[in-house]
Amino acid sequence: MSDTRIGVVGCAGRMGLALAREIAGSGDCIYSGGAERPGHGDLGADIGTLAGLGASGHLVGGDAGAIFEMSDVVIDFTAPQATNGHAAIAQATGTALVTGTTGLEPQHLKALEQAGGAAAVVWAANMSLGINLLAALTRRAAKVLGEDFDIEILEMHHRHKLDAPSGTALALGEAAAKGRGRRLDDIAVRGRDGWTGERRTGDIGFAVLRGGNVAGEHSVIFAAEDERIELTHRAGDRSIFARGAVRAAKWAAKAEPGFYGMSDVLGLNL
Ligand code: NAD
Repeated sequence: MSDTRIGVVGCAGRMGLALAREIAGSGDCIYSGGAERPGHGDLGADIGTLAGLGASGHLVGGDAGAIFEMSDVVIDFTAPQATNGHAAIAQATGTALVTGTTGLEPQHLKALEQAGGAAAVVWAANMSLGINLLAALTRRAAKVLGEDFDIEILEMHHRHKLDAPSGTALALGEAAAKGRGRRLDDIAVRGRDGWTGERRTGDIGFAVLRGGNVAGEHSVIFAAEDERIELTHRAGDRSIFARGAVRAAKWAAKAEPGFYGMSDVLGLNL
């Protein structure tokens, strides 16, 4: 079977370059080309050199449409407005699209869903295989254990992170709430300080730590009388997101048109 041709938009960004390294190290896919936004300072530069791999002959291009034409699947880690444009190109060309762009508003998600009518489209706010497995296990555990087990979610990130709790911690909270058939907004406790009163049965608590250069740690704790279960994921660096995106790309290249998440890619309907 021939190798999967993977194109990258936002190819000179941090994730774009991590993807170039991941694809180069993968045995069954090839880097078909990369594009950046108009006016980007690296237009025309060699992508392999930028990624620290040595000259590759792939130059940073400015035409995203051409990248979709020459690829089986395109990976996008850019910005919401750019992802919107890439969704329209996927819809027009039928080329599969994998996107990890975060901060998407409902109208951006709608554009991705629409593109799913003509091409396989995968979107996930966290592409790490481990985090997606953790979310599936959390949902399952929350369902099995019931409300005798209090659920607390603990996350730690580097000192530069601006938002709290992390989007991933909230997604784990959503998974836990779903397992219990509840809406997270109704039961989330996002911070405790001072005279809080007793914990309410069924609440899902969040606790946040910040410091150093921690790439991302998440624990989901199920605590009952005399026993406690803790599920933990620790991220080393951003290559884990690139690895997940490449896995999604290989899956999407063969999938029917549709709008998918990582649980589809990984078969995680536990
Ligand atoms: P970055 O700023 O380093 O890279 C983004 C790149 O996209 C830049 O090079 C930018 O020039 C480019 N870009 C913007 N508009 C474009 C356009 N119209 N066409 C082509 N390229 C365009 O950021 P990053 O750290 O690589 O993250 C990018 C996005 O991915 C963010 O939304 C981030 O939150 C998200 N992210 C998601 C995951 C995940 O697992 N889903 C992991 C890491 C980052």
